[in-house]
Amino acid sequence: MPLTALHGEIRLVSVDLPSPAFEALRGATDLVMTCCEARAIPKRSVLGLPFFAHHSRGTCEYAGESELHVLAKVEILRAARAAGWVADVEVRGHTPEGQRWRADVLCERGRHRVAFEVQRSGIVLQELHARQALYRASGVRGFWLMRTHERRLRQAQPWQHETPALYLSHDRHIPDLNLNLTSFTRAALGGHLKLFPIPDQPVQLRVVAEPKRCFRCFQNFYLTRAVLVADPEIPTQLVMTPGIHPELGPQLTTLFQTLDLDAGFLVPWPQTAPFVSWPSTAPHTFRCPNCGAARSAARFGKTWLDPAQAATTWARGDVRVWERTLTLPPEYHAWLTQTTGQVWVLRPRTNKP
Ligand SMILES: [Zn+2]
Ligand SMILES: [Zn+2]
Repeated sequence: MPLTALHGEIRLVSVDLPSPAFEALRGATDLVMTCCEARAIPKRSVLGLPFFAHHSRGTCEYAGESELHVLAKVEILRAARAAGWVADVEVRGHTPEGQRWRADVLCERGRHRVAFEVQRSGIVLQELHARQALYRASGVRGFWLMRTHERRLRQAQPWQHETPALYLSHDRHIPDLNLNLTSFTRAALGGHLKLFPIPDQPVQLRVVAEPKRCFRCFQNFYLTRAVLVADPEIPTQLVMTPGIHPELGPQLTTLFQTLDLDAGFLVPWPQTAPFVSWPSTAPHTFRCPNCGAARSAARFGKTWLDPAQAATTWARGDVRVWERTLTLPPEYHAWLTQTTGQVWVLRPRTNKP
C-alpha cells in the first residue's frame, strides 16, 4: 500500500494531501506509481488511510505491502516531523557508485540522514545486511523494524551496531524497549538508543555454573551453564552467553583473574577455581582443566535459552548463581560484544554524560 504517486511531474503523498484534494484524484487515469510504471489508483484502507494501489499488481515488490506496513510508515513520518526533522516517505536514493535504494521513511536534519524501514514479507536477515550496506555507503543510518525473527531479534546480536533491527509487534509496539512506534522514532532520532553493554559502565554480572571436583586430581572448577550481563538499572535488558560457547570458560577464568574476583563466593571452597565451557557436542564430555580427566555432563535441555526463566530453573540442585555489579574490563567487553552481541536499550536523557 504505497503512499506516493506521480501526477504528471508532480509527486503526490497521499497522507499529505487535504482530503478533498485526494478525493478529487479518484477517476484520474494519468496517475502513476512511484515504485514502478504501473497506473496508480487512489484508495482508502480499511481504517480510512489514503494510499495508491497498483492498477495491475505485476511483479512490483511494493504491491504487497500490508496495512500495518502503511500505518507504520505514516506513524514514523509524523513522529519524525513532530521531532523537527524533514521527513518523507518512499524516498529514492543511490550510493556514490549508483546502487539504488528506496527508503520507507527518510528523515533529514542538517547533515544527518536516517532511514526507517518496515520489513516487507519475505526479507531475510542476510538481505537486511546487504541493504544496510547501501545505506551506509550513502551516508544514511538505517533502522529496521522487523515483523519476523522475533526470538532472534530479542536476543543479543553482534551485528546490531552495524544493522539496528528491532521486532515490531502487530499493534506497532517495540516490545524490547516497551515503546510505541512514535516514541521509538523520537528516541532513535534523538540519539537516545544505546547498545548494551556500554563500555566502562557498570553491569550486573551473573555467572551460572555447576561446581565440580576432579575425580582424579581433586582440582575444583566450575562447569559454566551461562553468563548473563544485565543493565543494573534495567535488569530485564540483558545479554546472555550460553555456557556451550567454547571460549566462555577460558574467558571467564581470565576475567575472574583480571578483576581478582573470588569464585569461591559461588560455593564455600577455599581456592579460586577455573571455569570450563559446557560440552555442547556429543559425547558431551568435559575435561578437568588441571589434569585433563574426562567426565560426561548431564544434558540440561534448552532452559538456558530463556533468560527470563533463568533464576527459577537454574537455582536448583548443584547449579549456583554468582552475581555482582562491576565494570567489565575492555578486553572482556570487546569479546562479549563480538561473540554474543548487544541489545538496544533506551537511555534517559538525564543519564547522558
Ligand atoms: Zn509498484
Ligand atoms: Zn583433574
